[in-house]
Amino acid sequence: MYAKVLIDIKHEDVNRFFDYVVPPSLAHEIERGMRVLVPFGNQERMGYVIELVDESIQASKEIIALLDVIPSITDEMFTLIDHIIKQTNDLYAAVFETVVPAEIGLDYYQDITLVDARGVAQDFLDLFQQKNVLTLSKGNHTYDYLMRKYVKSKAITVTPSYRQKTDEKRLYTYTFNPNHTYEKAHHYPKLKTLDLKGYVKHELHAIGFTDGQIKTLLSHEVFLREKKTVERKISHVYRLHDKDVKLTEEQQLAFDTVQTHRHTYQTYVLKGVTGSGKTELYIKWIEEVLKNQQQALVLVPEIALIAPMAQRLESVFKEIVIYHSHLSKGERLDQYMKVKRGEAQIVLGTRSAVFLPLDKLGIIVIDEAHDGSYEQIDRTTYDAITMARLRAKYHQCPLILGSATPSIVSMYRALQKKDVLLELKERPFGIKEPMIELVDMREELKQKNTSMFSRRLKQAIDDRLVKKEQTMILFNRKGYAPFVMCRQCGHVPTCPTCGISLTYYQQDETLKCHYCGHEEAFTKTCHVCHEQAIKPVGVGIEQVERELKKTFPKAEVIRMDANVTKTKGAHEMIWHDFEHEKADILLGTQMIAKGMDFPKVTLVGVLMADMMLKTPSYRASEDAYMLLAQVVGRSGRRTPGEAIIQGYDLEHYAIKDVLSGYDAFYEEALYERKINGYEPFNHVYQVLAEGEGYLKTYQQLFQLKKALLTNKHIDVLGPVPAYIKKKNERYRFIITIKTTLSSNQAIFEAMATVKNDQIAVRFYAIIDQ
Ligand code: ADP
Ligand code: ZN
Repeated sequence: MYAKVLIDIKHEDVNRFFDYVVPPSLAHEIERGMRVLVPFGNQERMGYVIELVDESIQASKEIIALLDVIPSITDEMFTLIDHIIKQTNDLYAAVFETVVPAEIGLDYYQDITLVDARGVAQDFLDLFQQKNVLTLSKGNHTYDYLMRKYVKSKAITVTPSYRQKTDEKRLYTYTFNPNHTYEKAHHYPKLKTLDLKGYVKHELHAIGFTDGQIKTLLSHEVFLREKKTVERKISHVYRLHDKDVKLTEEQQLAFDTVQTHRHTYQTYVLKGVTGSGKTELYIKWIEEVLKNQQQALVLVPEIALIAPMAQRLESVFKEIVIYHSHLSKGERLDQYMKVKRGEAQIVLGTRSAVFLPLDKLGIIVIDEAHDGSYEQIDRTTYDAITMARLRAKYHQCPLILGSATPSIVSMYRALQKKDVLLELKERPFGIKEPMIELVDMREELKQKNTSMFSRRLKQAIDDRLVKKEQTMILFNRKGYAPFVMCRQCGHVPTCPTCGISLTYYQQDETLKCHYCGHEEAFTKTCHVCHEQAIKPVGVGIEQVERELKKTFPKAEVIRMDANVTKTKGAHEMIWHDFEHEKADILLGTQMIAKGMDFPKVTLVGVLMADMMLKTPSYRASEDAYMLLAQVVGRSGRRTPGEAIIQGYDLEHYAIKDVLSGYDAFYEEALYERKINGYEPFNHVYQVLAEGEGYLKTYQQLFQLKKALLTNKHIDVLGPVPAYIKKKNERYRFIITIKTTLSSNQAIFEAMATVKNDQIAVRFYAIIDQ
């Protein structure tokens, strides 16, 4: 018997399968999809068994060992891999790496043994730290030159080695010791909230203990620490109580529609305003699936939404498996292994969880399905919704795409009757949607209000503070990324080369481009309207925070953005604090717009709403509308609420239609897409070329365009300079491809004809600009 093996190396030269002899000792165990260890060149590498065959003309070496008991890649996963490769033409090894969690892979090293220290430079000797063997990771090329030299002079020998990426199950637990004698324990009131079980560190963090406190409490034996070899359980500290829910008529109808067809594949677009009870429906469907001994997969667009969804699910179901990129490697491996062993009933995760090897799927739920995060744009591109469709087809089960504002593509499919539309039009408590108001900030300026907050918004926030209700403020620019803008006409100075907004540097009064380093002096005069009105709009979200605190000194303000949520559990804590009314105002980027359900929020403010339309993408209007509609829906979930949207240019339909509603928006957006031939009327892709010569790179892409245009089903825009015009001294151009073809083969063939070594040409199945 022979095995066709894909080697775990991402390189074009090995982007094919290699034949190996299966030794008789492994013949009974080996299966397609298993990981194996094989000799490759002068080293041992991991590979995947792609196929077992009876004959081979090239096989000479034997498989060394099997690394799996159950195959890592199921037949179902092979179909997903196939699909991604057909769609993107990516390297096999890269696609495998996308589908299989990195934790189960191997890390490769080189062990360097010192044979003869004479003649070896002291710097290099120091690396050994008195030992005889030094281990360097395979990717470390710093010492390549020296190593070659010393291997030649026989001063060292080098042997390749490997290790499993993640160790399984090693972890400390902390248990409260009721018999401690620490006098100052009363300084830690949170101790009273602890059970007598073992907590892992991040659980203690979530409860509010800092590392320093944990250390102190350990040293006084208030906490007892134990190294447990148990599985790393990811538990959530906050629990909700079960409540009795009787479905409304609308909900019941939606429920029944899916329920009657639960053993066939169908995609359902569940369209319901926020608070209309979509999550309640997910829970009901999942209950049925579990009764049937099947499994459920639930996806949310980002980590911040794991906790609220976990809380809802855990209030009903005993145990759920959680999977996302903020887990430690070990935790992820545990969760993965649990799924692989068939021990998971419900899996909740972000995008990458779509690849978990559940083998009895009964339903897939994708919440906030319009969200762009379901698409992976960097590395190997894929769309989790497409993957979910394939999986639902494979398992013959329903796929639910829940959203208040379905993506244009989804809605189009539903209206074409390819997918089934389920609508929830009312909020169960009969509460009206919030009152929405647009405030023109140019008008405010004329009235001499130079603050970030309009008079309307300020007064509304004051009112909430008096009434002890909560406010959410959306400001969608993370970090400290100020730019300058003319307060009179809205003009934003941009980089002459890259076309992106210039960043203001206060100290030397200059404007700089973050990409190409272009620099110019800052001047107050706008060269569009010639007014002296250019001001640094120093509006990173941090500054908005400062401004809020200054304007509302009595208010407690918390901020949520990518910076403050970097640490593990931070989302959950902010969410928890705000829910428990420890703050009056939650300020955040788009993170706060999604999914959260805070009963006390009756006011939502959006600052600089039109800023969101300035991104260079044909999807900018869709993204802006979705975000606004979502965040507005955070207001008045229990008692009537209002929303105030501020901006300089509020005429665009993506903003105005927040008042008119989704249907109006959909009509206008679809019309725009039709006129310009974008999705859903065409598939849209991009090809990026990168090269040292400006003209050569451009010409290369132009050649490709010519080759593509010989196909009458393909239309090409460009080449134009990419959003980032130059990177690492290489010029970048893109073309945009529109096609009605369902296969991309013709595109890849055209790309192959213009291939050359100097210019890298990359295909993007999902586009970002
Ligand atoms: P969505 O997911 O559409 O935003 P949710 O499922 O979170 O909506 O519902 C909003 C709130 O209404 C939740 O607190 C939920 O428990 C409650 N709810 C939904 N449906 C019902 C129902 N039929 N009876 C009682 N409460 C309900
Ligand atoms: Zn620039």
